[in-house]
Amino acid sequence: MMQKYMETKEEYKDCILFYRLGDFYEMFFDDAKICSKELELTLTGKSCGLEERAPMCGVPFHAVDTYLNKLVSRGYKVAICEQVEDPKQAKGLVKRAVVRIATPGTNLNTQSLDETKNNYLMCIVYTTNAYGVSYVDVTTGEYYVTEFDSENKLLDEIFKTAPSEIICNDSFLVSGIDLEELHIRLNVVVSAVDNWHFDESKCEQALMEHFGVSSLDGLGLADYSIGITAAGAVMQYLTETQKTSMDHITSIKPYITNHYMLLDRSTRRNLELCETMREKSKRGSLFWILDKTKTAMGARLLRNSIEQPLIDIDEINTRLDIISEFNDNAISREELREYLSPIYDIERLISKISYKSANPRDLIAFRQSLSMLPHIKYVLSSFSQSKLKEYGENLDDLSDIYKLIDESIIEEPPITVREGGIIKDGFNEEVDRLRKAKTEGKQWIADLTEEEKEKTDIKNLKIKYNKVFGYFFEVTNSYKNLVPPEWTVKQTLSNCERYITPRLKELEDTILGAEEKLFTLEYNIFNETLDAIYSEIGRIQQAAKIIAQIDMFASMAVVAEQNNYVRPDMSKDGCIDIKNGRHPVVEKMIKNDMFISNDTFLDDDSHRIAIITGPNMAGKSTYMRQTALIVLMAQIGSFVPAESAKIGIVDRIFTRVGASDDLASGQSTFMVEMTEVSNILRNATKNSLIILDEIGRGTSTFDGLSIAWAVVEYIANTKLLGAKTLFATHYHELTELEGKLDSVNNYCIAVKEQGDDIVFLRKIIKGGADKSYGIQVAKLAGVPETVLNRAKELVEKLSNNDIANKAKEIDVEYEPEDYNYDIEKQTTHKKRGRKKTSSEIESEQMGQISMFDMG
Ligand code: ADP
Repeated sequence: MMQKYMETKEEYKDCILFYRLGDFYEMFFDDAKICSKELELTLTGKSCGLEERAPMCGVPFHAVDTYLNKLVSRGYKVAICEQVEDPKQAKGLVKRAVVRIATPGTNLNTQSLDETKNNYLMCIVYTTNAYGVSYVDVTTGEYYVTEFDSENKLLDEIFKTAPSEIICNDSFLVSGIDLEELHIRLNVVVSAVDNWHFDESKCEQALMEHFGVSSLDGLGLADYSIGITAAGAVMQYLTETQKTSMDHITSIKPYITNHYMLLDRSTRRNLELCETMREKSKRGSLFWILDKTKTAMGARLLRNSIEQPLIDIDEINTRLDIISEFNDNAISREELREYLSPIYDIERLISKISYKSANPRDLIAFRQSLSMLPHIKYVLSSFSQSKLKEYGENLDDLSDIYKLIDESIIEEPPITVREGGIIKDGFNEEVDRLRKAKTEGKQWIADLTEEEKEKTDIKNLKIKYNKVFGYFFEVTNSYKNLVPPEWTVKQTLSNCERYITPRLKELEDTILGAEEKLFTLEYNIFNETLDAIYSEIGRIQQAAKIIAQIDMFASMAVVAEQNNYVRPDMSKDGCIDIKNGRHPVVEKMIKNDMFISNDTFLDDDSHRIAIITGPNMAGKSTYMRQTALIVLMAQIGSFVPAESAKIGIVDRIFTRVGASDDLASGQSTFMVEMTEVSNILRNATKNSLIILDEIGRGTSTFDGLSIAWAVVEYIANTKLLGAKTLFATHYHELTELEGKLDSVNNYCIAVKEQGDDIVFLRKIIKGGADKSYGIQVAKLAGVPETVLNRAKELVEKLSNNDIANKAKEIDVEYEPEDYNYDIEKQTTHKKRGRKKTSSEIESEQMGQISMFDMG
């Protein structure tokens, strides 16, 4: 046995081998050591012909899933070696074979997965100048392929999809990519697989065979070369590890990232789209606010949509139309949501069916889900303005599949498939007959007891049953003399004797035989039902897609209604005009509806860059993030938290905000900051939206200010960049740029002085702040009085208006010749050279602010 074990282990060196021995899976040698540590199992030993006993530990077969999940989620691959013949029939050693390799990206146990998240296996193929990328979710059958020309875009995609396993070619491992960072941030295992996986012709062949096509053009893959290799490698890896059909993967979706708004990884993190920066929790993220979905499929689609906003105005408007119509007809919407509520995760259920790992209860859950489809279809027909009606027309109610399950599977079946009790009476004649034999058997036994009692006069004659002897007559010692001579003694006990007769044996065979036959038959019929459902997989997947979409839009509609969002007016004119915008998450976190709304106006002309000053805690970053989130929400097709919003579509959003979890990367805060600034300046376009929060902070004031100044000049220059930008800073000197650069405007967040203290008004107003109020904020934070007093003295001594005065004198870099903005026109309404101070502007605007609660 150990020899066989060693042979198998040799074949699956990179896996932990779970070796089936009777009712246990056993692990040996190093595998045993790892498992005993990771799974807290007791390490024992087994003599194996070597001098020392082999370390060994094991898990019971019925609990294997829990252990498997633990190992797989920690990044191990596990090869499962089963007994592939019946031990009773085996001559010599029972035959064993590896039937499946469980890996993080191919984990099928849906209970251990987050249902709102896809579980992707990604393959990356690196050649000198390009990356081919393909990823698949085996639990839902989604399969994508794309290509990138830069490491940065690739990393953004990895962070967007957050796969749980990455396989790659050898070159990728040495391409300079920071695998450690991927591991720390995403907990993803990256491993190279054998080169044959990447053989081009093998890859093409694998894809053509899988999809049953004679050329890849039909799959829309003609323009992808290295992408095809990645997709083919994934397919081969799946076949190799799962050793079963992958038929539920019915299509592959090639995509180019240009189709979506690009979000780099730090922006994704900074804007807390699907999880918060600190706790990594859903609570506090945009997804948390927007997710009122009723199904797991809807939740996954919503998450994916948040991760990739659209840039096509028609697509966005189609989504907004749906939400409008849902809200115009809230009664039907709510009715729909009630029907969505009981729907199980059909996408994952269908994968289970394809893997034959579905149990009878899964089918009942499936049937319950299907029973909702006709109602959903009916309600959808009451809509007419948007795509909703079309969804209704296209939704297949799958009534044939409902009927099949309804007729074949009993209402409350067991989880096990081999012990009968699955198939409904009346579905199959043979099942009925065998079942009858089983129940009637009881009567036969009772009849025989009576008959023999009469014949023999043994008054207390009984027929009993046990697993070892089967059925037998039991006669107490006092009646022993009445036993007919032809009865055969089976067993003698102290007070009685047990017998069998040919007639009893015959009945026993019929009864027990019926049961065994029944179990096998029910098992077979159950599998046939799975096959029958499976043959309709395309239709089922299509229906699941529609359900997911309806659910996502209904959720967006409900959120819009509950939170008072408005429909954004989308355009391509580059102007972002938000009236009384709010931060979707912060407004929910603040008690008593105290959130103060603010306007944003940015355009491609004289309002391209906003320099925002104001003390710490005033609300600068909330304001900037709110603007970014409103734009992003509009582009996923959601209504937005504002009184009105005109959104000129942006191609990318960039953020450089604070020093968050940079410690993990092992770089200094300043270095991280500069790397991000560099990324932004190199990759933003004139149609991008940039959020910069206090850049230049991590170095000396002079360096920091100078870098910040130069960055603003660079962005303002339309020849170089010209992106719409919100720039929060403590360097008041930057406010000098208003007037020097025509697209720059100063704003600040109003505060009110009350003696030694300040009150935050949270209202954004025109003009630059003239004070930092650092000491007041320190006081709010509880810094001891002595320190505060000393700091006040020092401020007076150190305050040096030298820089400020020098800043006034600095000339900005030349403005490009093709500066697409009419200077003549601007100078008429904007004074060059001198800026108003915030106090001047504040006193003009104070009337407007005073209506807000000063507390
Ligand atoms: P800053 O970036 O200027 O230091 P933040 O944006 O971090 O300030 O805001 C500090 C806190 O002020 C936030 O955590 C929030 O609780 C509160 N806040 C910010 N903006 C508003 C607003 N518009 N209305 C009400 N409270 C706000």
